[in-house]
Amino acid sequence: MRYAEHISELVGRTPLVRLSRVTEGLSATILAKVEYFNPGGSVKDRIALKMVEAAEESGLLKPGGTIVEPTSGNTGVGLALVAQRKGYECVFVCPDKVSKDKRDVLAAYGARVVVTPTAVPPDHPDSYYSVSDRIVAETPGAWKPDQYSNPNGPASHYESTGPEVWDDTDGRVTHFVAGVGTGGTITGTGRYLKEVSADRAPEDGGPVRIVGADPAGSVYSGGDGRPYLVEGVGEDFWPRAYDPSVPDEVIPVTDADSFAMTRRLAREEGLLVGGSCGMAVEAALRLARRLEDEDPVAASKAVIVVLLPDSGRGYMSKIFSDAWMRSYGFLDADAEITAGDVLR
Ligand code: PMP
Repeated sequence: MRYAEHISELVGRTPLVRLSRVTEGLSATILAKVEYFNPGGSVKDRIALKMVEAAEESGLLKPGGTIVEPTSGNTGVGLALVAQRKGYECVFVCPDKVSKDKRDVLAAYGARVVVTPTAVPPDHPDSYYSVSDRIVAETPGAWKPDQYSNPNGPASHYESTGPEVWDDTDGRVTHFVAGVGTGGTITGTGRYLKEVSADRAPEDGGPVRIVGADPAGSVYSGGDGRPYLVEGVGEDFWPRAYDPSVPDEVIPVTDADSFAMTRRLAREEGLLVGGSCGMAVEAALRLARRLEDEDPVAASKAVIVVLLPDSGRGYMSKIFSDAWMRSYGFLDADAEITAGDVLR
């Protein structure tokens, strides 16, 4: 019999799938790494597992302890899964821009959820960083993983995501594209892929190029932290989990373009994924178009892997709602979704 002892053992080893419709007219092979296959439904299960195990080893987290983290939801689910197995309590702090669906999921896993306003600076006492610090100070046995500065975030990607991408492409990946939130994914995966391909011959693609995708307005692509609606990516400060020397470039993508592509992925590729996935795919397609313009022969040999962090299920009342999209002026008439038409 083949079975896992616990769902948390099934983190990682997610599949690659070739994008075939949204890539029309492009000769590069574009492969999506679909992270919603993780048991908690997102890429964040990887860092949750590694951060908790490292904290246990170093004695920061002891039996009966409480995990307190500011999280937009996905990291919370990963931590909640791991915490359940190991008997820890969880308290999560979320900004109010995070969809209610996502917060309800955390509560369903048995976590306590505290909601804070989005429109305050990070050093404000009501910011989600400040509130989580206060809860840690007031809770005995509390440990804050702090995904923004914890080196085990990028380390989990160096140990799992990077080798998976390399092995599943038989070492042929030429470009890796990922959105940047804490920066853990791009830093850890990118570092591994650059190291393993450092001596690859130019005719075989040379070292893997690492490309970040970022909401227009965020610091990673030169913005000032101006608000954007895509969740889980972009920052208004520089987290320690992000090593800016790893990405070769960062491509800014607007909310409108991110959400339009997110809808196309569901409709044309059968991939119901989140807004940061649409953002990353949009960046990957721009990269592919540019390669095509620069050198069509090299472009036809390019193998671009783009990481899709989560599922679209948590965004039904936002990106997949025509009314919500229209309220921000994001909706083209031909992109409308009509659900529940009454037959006459
Ligand atoms: N997309 C979503 C939906 C996320 O939750 C996150 C994590 N914040 C990311 C992308 C970015 O990943 P990372 O933090 O590793 O940069």
